[in-house]
Amino acid sequence: MIQLCRAGALCPRRALLPTLMSTPTAAPTAALSDALQTARSQPEPGCYIGRFAPSPTGPLHFGSLLAALASYLDARHANGQWLLRIEDLDPPREEPGASHHILSTLEAYGLNWDGSVRYQSQRQAAYQHGLQQLADKGVAFPCGCSRKQLQGRLHLRHCLNPPDRSQDYAWRFRVDPNSAPLCFQDRLQGRVCLSPANDIGDFVIRRRDQLWSYQLAVVLDDRDQGINQIVRGIDLIDSTQRQLLIYQAFDWSAPQYAHIPVATEANGQKLSKQNLALPLQPDPSGQTLWLALDWLRQHPPVALQYEGNPSVLQWAIQHWQPAALNGIHGLPAPVSFQRSPAGLRS
Ligand code: GLU
Repeated sequence: MIQLCRAGALCPRRALLPTLMSTPTAAPTAALSDALQTARSQPEPGCYIGRFAPSPTGPLHFGSLLAALASYLDARHANGQWLLRIEDLDPPREEPGASHHILSTLEAYGLNWDGSVRYQSQRQAAYQHGLQQLADKGVAFPCGCSRKQLQGRLHLRHCLNPPDRSQDYAWRFRVDPNSAPLCFQDRLQGRVCLSPANDIGDFVIRRRDQLWSYQLAVVLDDRDQGINQIVRGIDLIDSTQRQLLIYQAFDWSAPQYAHIPVATEANGQKLSKQNLALPLQPDPSGQTLWLALDWLRQHPPVALQYEGNPSVLQWAIQHWQPAALNGIHGLPAPVSFQRSPAGLRS
């Protein structure tokens, strides 16, 4: 499939080499590996399509600004597109007004996306179609097993008897119990492996409560939107192999991944909506973006600190060096974005 990129160049839907490597022992030679890495880190100009995909479970906070900014800079540095997708798949966890807050805060910081915003809540038919295709291939199966029945074990063919369809049941993705470890080459974190059989098990792709799982929806939307580069927080790194299994099942090549560190509170907890991270206020001065760049180890010049968001972003697009984050898993947020000690949950 051919896709027209923003720069006007015609680019194949997957211009990049697939990131999958099936076993950790089948490593390419050092020279080939270097060549692969170089090819991977240099998408064809104009063919980069990235995205930011927040769930509207709360307002944007400093941690989510970091993921938005890193994915934005990575795309714009490559002269690529940057899309915005609201992952509103789980109404019980969503907060009224959160989508609006996220969009208006991104705009206030000058993080302008391409095209219109996609809402996952409007994609039910596409997910249903994807599930049907996986079921037809024999890799998705209905499962009436409860957590209690699984007793904390991974699901590995435990409940293959057809569930009682008059009761609620989930759909799971079938994992081969004999599969070799599944590895991918993360642009920042290096080679990352998980064993589908020992670490993942048959995972849920449609929940018993009829809601779609993140794992299925994210793959179907990334594929449908032509996303070929994903920059997101390292807290999602263990989801990547589940997503790669879905790509494999469809026989699609996967995007390339870069997982950035998470920002932490004083007690080491990740800044997150669940942990009640402080909502981000608009800051036209440029200082918040400057602090975010500094946290991302971009070494922005001190003189830029109050020059306004457009100047800070312009500098950052030009000087973006993601390799500064190689191998880093977490860093404390600047003190002004951490909750006071009294506000921290134990
Ligand atoms: N919606 C997910 C979140 O807010 C992120 C999905 C992704 O980047 O793959 O945590």
